[in-house]
Amino acid sequence: MKKNIALMFVALLSIIVLAACGSDDEQAADTTNNEDTAKDEAQSDPIKVVTSFTIIEDMANEIGGDLVDVYNLVPTGTDPHEYEPLPDDIKAATDADALFYNGLNLEGGDHGWFAKMMDSTNQDWDVAYELAENVEPMYVTTDDGEEDEINPHAFLDPVVGIEMAESARDALIEIDPDNQEIYEENAETYLEVLVDIDEQYKTRIEDIPEEDRILVTSERAYQYMADRYGLEEGYIWAVDTEENGSPEQIKSLLSFLEETSPPVLFVETNVDTRPMETVSKESGIDIYGEIFSDEIGEPGEEGDTYVKYLQFNIDVIHDGLQAE
Ligand SMILES: [Zn+2]
Repeated sequence: MKKNIALMFVALLSIIVLAACGSDDEQAADTTNNEDTAKDEAQSDPIKVVTSFTIIEDMANEIGGDLVDVYNLVPTGTDPHEYEPLPDDIKAATDADALFYNGLNLEGGDHGWFAKMMDSTNQDWDVAYELAENVEPMYVTTDDGEEDEINPHAFLDPVVGIEMAESARDALIEIDPDNQEIYEENAETYLEVLVDIDEQYKTRIEDIPEEDRILVTSERAYQYMADRYGLEEGYIWAVDTEENGSPEQIKSLLSFLEETSPPVLFVETNVDTRPMETVSKESGIDIYGEIFSDEIGEPGEEGDTYVKYLQFNIDVIHDGLQAE
């Protein structure tokens, strides 16, 4: 009996010792790893990148890999058009080496939440990178019809995604030139996937009978994508920030549906589905399914990367518009 207790004690002791060594071993492994890649990789802490919303967060991670530490502001489930930064957000923005935002007024433009947040930090605008900077803006007419607004949703167009990924790559190289090669390699792999997605959008939309190439959604978020690939757009409201689903807006979509008779309707994952349900009931046209707009899916759920988000949308649109 005594012997057994002694054995148990020894066993217990070795577990403790092993556990204590574990972290040392991991550190040792990390160091070896770093040494292995030392010829390509500068030995520096990850650079701190703050991103404005989920699509850019994903891009920064794809292209930056282990070299970046990404802090994202607007999470899935929260509207990127209007946002109130939290104290932690301000802190992260203040400490950031770089900030990535969409631009095209997604974050409220010159007087919007992102600009205000920049003001409340001591950050230089030189480290704030507008990823959609090179995108030719498209405009929507607001309800009051008084002035046209820039449509921020260019990122639904895979070709714009390619341009934004290139901007993210170039920004990372500018901030961290020592690791240029790694950013270029990561971006190359990523861009190949996006080019393939663009190809799919082309061929699969061409696959849809011409008279059925009509994309009906709640918000007019798909303007860039629809224009690029030849889809006609129907929508209830122009931009999320105004009235969403008023009787006039619904009436106007109903008359569009009467003229064009699209096979199905779609609804975005981030909107109130009730206005589109009303449209469906009134028009007798089914809602085929949800598609992504202002955000990628929750981690572990459908569409949880930008690539999967784009893929999901073309799958649903392609199948929906061919459903009889
Ligand atoms: Zn939107």
